[in-house]
Amino acid sequence: MSRFMDTRLQGLSPYVPGEQLRKKDIIKLNTNENPYPPSPKVLEVVGSEAHTLHLYPDVSGGNLVTQLASFYKVDKDQVFFGNGSDEILAFCFQAFCPQGVAFADLTYGFYPVYAQLYQVPATVIPLREDLSLGAEDYYDLHKTIVIANPNAPTGLALSLAEIQEILRRNQDALVIVDEAYVDFGAQSCVTLLDQNPNLLVVGTFSKSRSMAGARLGYALGSKELIADLNTIKFSFNPYNVNQLTLAAGAASLEDQAYFEQCRDKVVETRESCKASFAKMGFSVTDSKANFLFVSHPKYTAESLYQQLKQRDILVRWFCVPRIENYLRITVGTQQQMDRLLAALQSLIEQ
Ligand SMILES: *Cc1c(COP(=O)(O)O)cnc(C)c1O
Repeated sequence: MSRFMDTRLQGLSPYVPGEQLRKKDIIKLNTNENPYPPSPKVLEVVGSEAHTLHLYPDVSGGNLVTQLASFYKVDKDQVFFGNGSDEILAFCFQAFCPQGVAFADLTYGFYPVYAQLYQVPATVIPLREDLSLGAEDYYDLHKTIVIANPNAPTGLALSLAEIQEILRRNQDALVIVDEAYVDFGAQSCVTLLDQNPNLLVVGTFSKSRSMAGARLGYALGSKELIADLNTIKFSFNPYNVNQLTLAAGAASLEDQAYFEQCRDKVVETRESCKASFAKMGFSVTDSKANFLFVSHPKYTAESLYQQLKQRDILVRWFCVPRIENYLRITVGTQQQMDRLLAALQSLIEQ
């Protein structure tokens, strides 16, 4: 640390992203990216909009906000957009946690980092023994709650009824539901917004819409919450999302057929892989996301991770208590998964 750094940030340990090796022919199943490219309509609009790059982007979000509002059946003033949902979550930790924040012990790694960055006291609530999230552990907390649904890295999801009960039992507190993976099989709680002014739903184009590189996230909530998020954003960076990404996001929403096609392929591949992993003796969580969370009773996750890496297959291993023997494996194309399964098969037979 330089002598110029604020000592309050001395212990800050930043988020560690999955490795982004650009090596050719690597099978990259470690950061939950979509294996399919964005919609052809997205590619087209990025080209046709490029000539406007001499201008600042439209701060209103233009057609993106219109499309998001119509897709999720909310008013336009209930829609916020940001530079990835990470940025939106950061705004939330900065602005909406006066009483502190509560989240699970095993969840998205950015939550504890943002709590540290914005000096928000964090209450960490352990998942149950089976790694599911116990809704009742989130009742009457009197502080902001952040829940990833489905959760990462487990892939396990809460039902709408469970989320509704958490909202009802925390009417004095904001409940932020991070739906980064919801399109792959869980129920979105956007439908609960009308009845629950304490709900903020955060989503992303990075996973189900194949746009991780574009950096685009959104939040849906009461118009008061959205106005607050805009206050933060306009006090920080009004041009947080570039013009090409705004246009790309709108185009993605306009191509529902392509979205469904890619999502269905990922879900189909996930389900067939679940069965194959089980056959090899892995325990596999009932993931509703675009990744699998697996553990083998005889082989350590660390050694499997290392040996796969030597074979140019990257998966994610977290050296974290309770899950140190699990691998989180992004669902790739069927072809990629076949190669992964073949590699694992050979490692296990040795
Ligand atoms: C990937 C992910 C995000 C971040 O998405 P971006 O929009 O790419 O910033 C947020 N929350 C969870 C749980 C994620 O897995």
